Amino acid sequence: MTSSSTSPEDIRSLEYGTGSHFIKNIINEHNRNGRFDGRIHTRFPPEPNGYLHIGHAKSICLNFGLAREYGGLCNLRFDDTNPVKEEQEYIDAITQDVRWLGFDWEDRLYYASDYFETMYHFAEQLIQSGHAYVCDLTPEEIREYRGTLKEPGRESPYRNRTVSENLDLFRRMRAGEFPDGLRTLRAKIDMGSGNLNMRDPVMYRITRATHPRTGDAWCIYPMYDWAHGLEDSIERITHSICTLEFEDHRPLYDWFLEALDTYRPQQIEFARLALTHTVMSKRKLLTLVKEGFVAGWDDPRMPTISGLRRRGYSPEAIRSFCEKIGVSKANSTVDYAMLEYCVREHLNLTAPRVMAVLDPLKVVITSYPDNQVEMLDALNNPEDETMGYRTVPFSREIYIEAADFMDNPPKKFFRLAPGREIRLKHAYYIVCDDVIRDKSGEIVELRCHHDPESRGGWTKDGRKVQGTLHWVSASHAVRGEVRLYDHLFLTDDPLNVPEGTNFTDSINPNSISTIRTALFEQSLENVNPEARYQFIRHGYFCADRDSRPGYPVFNRTVTLKDTWAKLQK
Ligand code: ATP
Ligand code: MG
Repeated sequence: MTSSSTSPEDIRSLEYGTGSHFIKNIINEHNRNGRFDGRIHTRFPPEPNGYLHIGHAKSICLNFGLAREYGGLCNLRFDDTNPVKEEQEYIDAITQDVRWLGFDWEDRLYYASDYFETMYHFAEQLIQSGHAYVCDLTPEEIREYRGTLKEPGRESPYRNRTVSENLDLFRRMRAGEFPDGLRTLRAKIDMGSGNLNMRDPVMYRITRATHPRTGDAWCIYPMYDWAHGLEDSIERITHSICTLEFEDHRPLYDWFLEALDTYRPQQIEFARLALTHTVMSKRKLLTLVKEGFVAGWDDPRMPTISGLRRRGYSPEAIRSFCEKIGVSKANSTVDYAMLEYCVREHLNLTAPRVMAVLDPLKVVITSYPDNQVEMLDALNNPEDETMGYRTVPFSREIYIEAADFMDNPPKKFFRLAPGREIRLKHAYYIVCDDVIRDKSGEIVELRCHHDPESRGGWTKDGRKVQGTLHWVSASHAVRGEVRLYDHLFLTDDPLNVPEGTNFTDSINPNSISTIRTALFEQSLENVNPEARYQFIRHGYFCADRDSRPGYPVFNRTVTLKDTWAKLQK
């Protein structure tokens, strides 16, 4: 082992000390003691074996956010060391998602596979210094020799091969002389270590798999622990931030770089994000996609960035969520309602209010002239007057929400009923005079009269009405589709399932309901996919890419009712 100046320093007191943000405490300390000459250089290192999810967003915001805050740099690096599971589609989706979240890696887009040659040379260096050997044990034997938490491991019979024999075999491994899995390169550390990761971990395995970037150039591929520290070191990362399960790998991370006597970043672990009603591992999400439980990685019910985006989440809302949850060393599960709170908070300020009737009931305003159409002014967002006004057409025949009328209303029903006056948003006061039914007794139409003096929804005498209803003009309304979503999983913790059952067993059979006969105000006739609105009294909605001219399709992002803020009180 080499110079003491690079020995792992004790950052435990900083990790578990008080203070709002333990990672910043560590960075501040490094800035004070000059370990990295005041540089801050982080990276976000996804493996391109799936789409990014909200947990990755936490890591992205943290890494890019710290770089931004300290005037440092953050790289985007694909950790593409396992060709069996990696695909170009994932690489494309990941770059798009990081950019959409609002982060920029400038010209620092890297691939671990670009370092394969360098890594290989580092491996030969370790062989030469007696720190690595070629082992002929099978994967099963390696596992068996490894021991357990209670029992030490046993040394491989191949552990004491000479340097020249190891070099020769390793070169032949690379040259493709041996079948898959026959030999491995292992670090020579300590089979008696209390830390299982230090018991001669495998560095290279033989796998004939075509890599998305290096094709068939390699038949040996580096293992994560060996590769990751080298990637960080090559890029001269200062703070290598990863999730808590790598805490026990940190000694190995440090060991490799010290054995190579090369630049060593500081690995820092934080608790990964878990959300209620959600699974977060890419493997589980892939199962949902592959087995058809959802329509794809960007299904609006998925916790993926692309799913949340299609659902109507804004980058601002996701960043604000990541800010609010903070970072810590303690694993915990965040209530999904908090994510919803964050999107409401942002959309409340930015989404124009519009009118959409999801379950239409016709209303004829008998006092209103037959062929008249008035264009009424409608304020787009009371939270932000700079968003201005639009006009909505009003005419004799309109639609209201069927649930906004009751024949025999109970006491607390403040909407329309026979003889009762209510306000139509932006329009007039109306009174219900008559209820028309079909043969089966079902209500099919209401007859009302309006107060012509109440244009805009206000009267001079200031008389009060109990309710204000949204509506659309019958001859101007646009028919289209609305997709209402609920949690994909019925239980808080879908992974906590009884033995013998599957996490997919708790999938909510009613996680989507589609309405194809919704009526929208005229301004929504041609919507741009991803445009976000508040449908008055219904919630926030986002135009889906399935929208066609004259047939808008909307995904409900979230209802208006906040459950999270209430939980806090
Ligand atoms: P998964 O377990 O979902 O498959 P992963 O850790 O294998 O995720 P990577 O592509 O290796 O996925 O992750 C890239 C980065 O994102 C890593 O630094 C990882 O620590 C971080 N990350 C992954 N999941 C979460 C999470 N739930 N919360 C915070 N960070 C995460
Ligand atoms: Mg991983």
